[in-house]
Amino acid sequence: MADKTVRSTVVSRAVFLLQGSVREAAILKVCVLASGSSGNATFVATEKTRILIDAGLSFRELASRLAAIGEDPAKLDAVLISHEHSDHVSGLPVLMRKLKCPVPVYATHLTATTFAWDERAPRVETFQAGCRFSIGELEVDSFTIPHDAIDPVAFAFHTQGLKIASVTDLGYIPESIRYHLRGTQLLILESNHDLEMLKVGPYPWPVKQRVMGRKGHLSNDVVSEFIREDLDSSTATLVLGHISENNNHPELVRLVAAQALAARSLSTNLVIAVPRRQTEVFTL
Ligand SMILES: [Zn+2]
Ligand SMILES: [Zn+2]
Repeated sequence: MADKTVRSTVVSRAVFLLQGSVREAAILKVCVLASGSSGNATFVATEKTRILIDAGLSFRELASRLAAIGEDPAKLDAVLISHEHSDHVSGLPVLMRKLKCPVPVYATHLTATTFAWDERAPRVETFQAGCRFSIGELEVDSFTIPHDAIDPVAFAFHTQGLKIASVTDLGYIPESIRYHLRGTQLLILESNHDLEMLKVGPYPWPVKQRVMGRKGHLSNDVVSEFIREDLDSSTATLVLGHISENNNHPELVRLVAAQALAARSLSTNLVIAVPRRQTEVFTL
């Protein structure tokens, strides 16, 4: 089985000429276009399938960030929505209106009930949290996450023996999620706040309680514990995102996670998704 996977992966990596040099074509291309409370969107593509996870950017911002990596909203095949909070869906109605060939929107049945379309509604493909479905060349696993939304999910994607996952907006990491994150080569994970900064920060107490709660967001310390205890050594790249601009700092996120990786002697490539900026492009 493992042998077959390796063989099919190798065979599918066509060699092509690019700018005079011979390179191996990537199977997967991933870019976190935006991450955090000011907007979330992640681009995932194979050679034939292009999808967006969440649509929390304005159309103009989305188009310009996709253009920066040689992509175009018009070429998207689907948009997946993790949950209905505005930082994940605020750009969705305009995106659907601007696309000449509207693409399907994938969301759970309950999340789909929260969508408000202004004129014509796009095709909405609903699924049950916990189900696996395919979009073109991508096999998608959806799984429930503990967060204060109607039916929030995270996603893992499989193609040609590769696996990546995107998991943000969750209050803690239950065993079921740890299971889903095994075997990922690229993991996008939330590292939302520093607990001390949150406690002394500007938010009103009820908001602090919400963020810290079991259905809130992950702290740097919880992520550190996850890295020390459960991060799979298969994870070649760990992208930490959804970083709070009030209660955290990208360099603090990097420091805490780097210490945890060092404690495991893991050589994982650690990338911090700085709020309001897109990351580099990851190819697998
Ligand atoms: Zn969010
Ligand atoms: Zn949320």
